[in-house]
Amino acid sequence: MRTTILVVGGAGYIGANMVNKLLNAGYSVITFDNLSHGYRDAVIGGEFIRGDLHHPTDLAQVFKQYQIDGVMHFASFIEVGESLINPGKYYQNNVAATLNLLDAMVAHQVSNLIFSSSAAIFGEPHYLPIDEQHPKQPINPYGLSKWMIEQILADYERAYQLKSICLRYFNAAGAAPDPRLRERHHPETHLIPLVLQVAAGQRPHITIFGEDYPTFDGSCIRDYIHVDDLCQAHLLALQHLFQGGPSAAYNLGNGQGFSVKQVIDTARQITRHPIPTVLGNRRIGDPASLIADARLAITQLHWQPRYPELATLIDHAWQVHTHNTL
Ligand code: UDP
Repeated sequence: MRTTILVVGGAGYIGANMVNKLLNAGYSVITFDNLSHGYRDAVIGGEFIRGDLHHPTDLAQVFKQYQIDGVMHFASFIEVGESLINPGKYYQNNVAATLNLLDAMVAHQVSNLIFSSSAAIFGEPHYLPIDEQHPKQPINPYGLSKWMIEQILADYERAYQLKSICLRYFNAAGAAPDPRLRERHHPETHLIPLVLQVAAGQRPHITIFGEDYPTFDGSCIRDYIHVDDLCQAHLLALQHLFQGGPSAAYNLGNGQGFSVKQVIDTARQITRHPIPTVLGNRRIGDPASLIADARLAITQLHWQPRYPELATLIDHAWQVHTHNTL
């Protein structure tokens, strides 16, 4: 029988790319998603169950119906700004609902979990690049919700032998060739998709959130990672657990930072559009620079990003964007 993976939040951007990768790797896949932010058509194969993590009965039904070997958990709210205004929404969804998932796993003796964590758990960097040992001092409820689950997972392993790998994403972007798998958040808040919307004539300009940061050109620096590379790391992490590897946490990025202005310039070259900019205020909760030290994932998981170039990542996103809008 094929190994069966439950992908929670598999109708969202990264989750849907993961479902695709798991299917291509020969796994049997069950997607569980409430479609609050995901899209049914993004789930390109396997079983689909519309269910809600807030309803333990939805979960119990899935775990009873299928023999699940491992779980990947992508379902969470991701907007830092919103999490500051409405923290209850984030703790309910990202923490309380996740506990329902963990308890269902324990109840049904499913002991392998890959958890989508975030660079937001670190807060303001004490040093760069950020390795796994870096202090965890999240500065917003979104980051704290992710860090809470990482800590809860350590307790669940001690008490219930639930094994997990926490993958801390830096800035996910890029796209697979299939337009159904593209990034489509509503509202879109992420830099690269917004920049591409300007290039496609869907927005008049991109606002640069601050150019007085202590960086070489004054705009924020981030470590952008291709969604396909991110999913590849999940696949390796899952195999690591199946082979008996220990629970762990890994930072996932390319180890190279690009400023907001560099991203816009690269997009100008790729799209051949002038991409007008407007200077805006700093966005609350934005550290000046975030760059990953991903050497642990490279050495322990044998992960090797295939698309480390910013231009490739933007080019892939642009190809899918134009396919979809022209
Ligand atoms: N950013 C910007 N204008 C926008 C959206 C984002 O200048 O319209 C900046 C943002 O301040 C951050 C970087 O782009 O420094 C990446 O932001 P994004 O929201 O894509 O990801 P985050 O870093 O919040 O995970």
